[in-house]
Amino acid sequence: MIMKIYKTLKSIKNIFTGDKSNDRYSSLRFSHVDTKGERIAAMTFDDGPCGIICPEGMKLTDFIRETLESYNFKATFDIIGSTEENYPDKPGKLGSFRWSGVCYDHYPCFEEDKIGGAVNNPDIIRRLIDGGFELANHGYRHIACGKQGFPYYGRAFFSQYNDVITDYKRLHDYIYKNFDYNMVGARPPHYAETISGDKTVFDVYRELGYNYYFASFDLGGWEKNETSGNMVKKLKKALEENPDSLCGKVIYQKDGLSMSGDMPIYEALPLQLDLLFSHGYEIITVSELLKRFA
Ligand SMILES: [Zn+2]
Repeated sequence: MIMKIYKTLKSIKNIFTGDKSNDRYSSLRFSHVDTKGERIAAMTFDDGPCGIICPEGMKLTDFIRETLESYNFKATFDIIGSTEENYPDKPGKLGSFRWSGVCYDHYPCFEEDKIGGAVNNPDIIRRLIDGGFELANHGYRHIACGKQGFPYYGRAFFSQYNDVITDYKRLHDYIYKNFDYNMVGARPPHYAETISGDKTVFDVYRELGYNYYFASFDLGGWEKNETSGNMVKKLKKALEENPDSLCGKVIYQKDGLSMSGDMPIYEALPLQLDLLFSHGYEIITVSELLKRFA
């Protein structure tokens, strides 16, 4: 019994640390690598592309790309196809986990689905590919696998393996056919992994030939009442405590709005990248991180 509890706790810990040592899907899940002290990390942006126009007149994802380019950095964009089909639905309560919709996610927000996603922003996708950035599959409609518990209880979910495959393949094929670009990595919406029975998203990824891009450092931008000041403070604190603490990590960022409907990434990103640069970091894509160090 004690052994069983120990094993359960260890497997939960592995989910959050990305520990590869005790995981039957070990070859697929990456959250960090050993860079042998080199200050190199991967940065990932979820839920875009996002066509919200920033104060200087460009789309948010273009702003993120240009900001990264100004430091000669690269990143991986965990893109969605579109959330336009996620209706009928009702708007959720701002600040709650269902902020964008009661039954489904809507990106960038409820009833504004037409300015989000890859199929509505082919211009952004083209510029990302041309700039040498990586695209990874975050599901066409951003629907979680398997029945969800707190805080997403009662939401729509995929319960069939074939539905999950179809959703991922739909986005994969769209990007491949229109941009001649082959995605090799994926991250499941809300990190939900179990579909039903013993079927998991790892079975889907194995069939599609994807690596699972987990994350090992959260730079924020998604939570309720998140501010750019807090996002910068979080990074500053980590670097002050240990300037090597981000070596080999996969950093999570939000390409879009927070749960409060704000866009703190816009002000935070230039300051965060400046901090990383001044600490001697190079920021690259996940697949490049794996190529160099895995
Ligand atoms: Zn997501």
